[in-house]
Amino acid sequence: MKNIWIADGHCDSIGDYAAGKRNLKETAKFGHWDLTRAKQANLGLQFLAAYIESEYKPFQAAWRGLELLEAALRFIDHNSSEVFLVRTQEDAAQLGRTNKLGLLINIEGGEILGENIFMLDLIFRLGVRSIGLTWNERNAIGNGVGESEGSGGLSSFGFQVIERMNQLGMVIDVSHLNEAGFWDVLRHSERPVIASHSCAKALCGHRRNLTDHQLRALGDKKGLVGVNFCEDFLSDTGKATIDDVVRHICHIAEVAGVDAVGFGSDFDGIETTPEGLENVGTFPYLVEKLSQCGFNQNEIARICYGNYVRFLSDVLM
Ligand SMILES: [Zn+2]
Repeated sequence: MKNIWIADGHCDSIGDYAAGKRNLKETAKFGHWDLTRAKQANLGLQFLAAYIESEYKPFQAAWRGLELLEAALRFIDHNSSEVFLVRTQEDAAQLGRTNKLGLLINIEGGEILGENIFMLDLIFRLGVRSIGLTWNERNAIGNGVGESEGSGGLSSFGFQVIERMNQLGMVIDVSHLNEAGFWDVLRHSERPVIASHSCAKALCGHRRNLTDHQLRALGDKKGLVGVNFCEDFLSDTGKATIDDVVRHICHIAEVAGVDAVGFGSDFDGIETTPEGLENVGTFPYLVEKLSQCGFNQNEIARICYGNYVRFLSDVLM
């Protein structure tokens, strides 16, 4: 199992790069993710999230999003012998066939659009292929999980965004979205959608986690859930180990199907990490654990990588 490919649906590392704190190439004294350890772990695909911090919202959100996008593109340029930008079905077909790490840029926060569809087309041209529709707050698209219960689903602008993202071949990310918005997206999107960094509510009651009903609906739509390594999402005690991550993977595979589950570490976005999964270099331990809990080799390969490649070939154009 040593050389199995790994795909990860969410890390927030580009913030440190944009701030000049780390080059994300060599391993630094702090931080969860860098190219050196990613290569050691055989990472083949990473969604790089440009997380727009709350203090920029709403009026500076577009500038901040573009600043982080520029940083992500600069990182890719500076490391072009080791990484490539994933934009098309053709790029997705290269995954696992080249020893370069594929990077797909996600904007975490639909606030980047304001209420302008042209911004969606613009960031698409600039290489963005995924948007987290909301963070925990409300925006012009819909409501995050941090809004009061009973806050509604998508706005009419939100429905326009879904339609345009379907047309362009962009990954719709529903992590952080409230439940009413989630069901609006599931009903309205013509393509599979992802919850890039979420866990199962049946195992841990956190508001960010997904009910079995939601997990099943994602699976039915050929979508994907990237299991988050956030200790608060993994266990009601707020302390977690690698075994809790395995527990969530097994549960989601049972409820939504083996083809609906993958990894969504949230490295560099979470304050603490589960014991045994301290950084991107530790992914191989998770692979080992999966083979101990009843999945066959083919299933493990799908959970670790294949599901993401299939999902991207369904969504990208
Ligand atoms: Zn997030």
